[in-house]
Amino acid sequence: NLQILLRRRPKGEPVPEDFEIAETPVPQPQPGEVLVRAQYLSLDPYMRGRMSDAKSYSAPVALGAVMEGQTAGEVVASTVEGFAPGDTVLGGFGWQRYSCVQPGRLFKIDPKEAPLSASLGVLGMPGLTAWVGLEDIGQPKAGETVVVSAASGAVGQVVGQIARIRGCKVIGIAGGREKCEFVTEVLGFDACIDHRGDLAAELDRHCPQGVDVYWENVGGAVQRAVFPRLNDHARMVMCGMIAEYNDVEPRPGPNLMAAVRKRLRIQGFIVSDNGWPRYPQFRQEMLGFMAAGRMAWREDVVEGLRNAPTAFIGLLKGSNFGKLVVKID
Ligand code: NDP
Repeated sequence: NLQILLRRRPKGEPVPEDFEIAETPVPQPQPGEVLVRAQYLSLDPYMRGRMSDAKSYSAPVALGAVMEGQTAGEVVASTVEGFAPGDTVLGGFGWQRYSCVQPGRLFKIDPKEAPLSASLGVLGMPGLTAWVGLEDIGQPKAGETVVVSAASGAVGQVVGQIARIRGCKVIGIAGGREKCEFVTEVLGFDACIDHRGDLAAELDRHCPQGVDVYWENVGGAVQRAVFPRLNDHARMVMCGMIAEYNDVEPRPGPNLMAAVRKRLRIQGFIVSDNGWPRYPQFRQEMLGFMAAGRMAWREDVVEGLRNAPTAFIGLLKGSNFGKLVVKID
């Protein structure tokens, strides 16, 4: 079994030496377990948190253990009723080819509904994140202005398109001209601002009525530019702050007194808290959008599990363009 282990905890930006490639025997499923062969591995920003032993909402990956991650693939052996060899599933575990998993987090999926890798992106955890965060916190209403950071990425793509479907004006923020063009031309956002340019001036130009919903994926300079432009009763969906994940020391925070003054609701959330029980509902609605041609998505497919560490390091710097997945040979 080809596996990628956490060798040591990174200081600042992760480097390839923080990972270790291992070959181990293929595991045998114990009673109550399903053996899954991964075809795709999802790489996601939260994995940077799991590499660290700083206090978080989730336990760190132990040193020497397989890196945490979700895969999509095929059942090869099962001791569990309802899962049989040949079934296509979402919910394999870890940066490895084979994993033994319990059925609680395993979703049987119909491979004819969409390409398998989509179940790690637009139809996966990132898509579910977008959908849950908008339903529960953003609550965009027709005519409102929604700003989405990391707009070309896995979560941002879906956030903006759902907000458009709900009748909002949607402004994306992304790094570079190519990503911005994709966001407007393919995803259909009303505009997209390059955060490497004059972000404040561009926000004023594109959001003359201010911002009603800000989907926060990035933090840092982007957050500082959007925050003062929030309207009264705006909703700021605190999804992530990837620009600060490699920081060795936490940065000084924004002045949150405005949250009191403007009666803002700033609410963080973790997709796994109450997202997965609603996965079937989410998936059905998304498949409908896809079938109607109202949901575009872009994936960045890296070939070969051995390339996962480099691809993951790049994810934290913006080298990916779209949902990053590894195609396992
Ligand atoms: P993406 O596919 O968006 O990839 C990450 C992107 O972040 C990069 O491509 C880059 O886009 C942007 N980025 C990285 N560094 C910086 C920086 N310094 N300044 C500005 N932008 C930067 O990742 P995801 O869609 O998977 O994740 C997006 C966010 O959502 C992350 O913060 C993640 O932690 C969070 N998340 C939270 C969940 C939850 O349950 N709360 C669940 C899933 C994700 P660009 O080049 O455009 O800047």
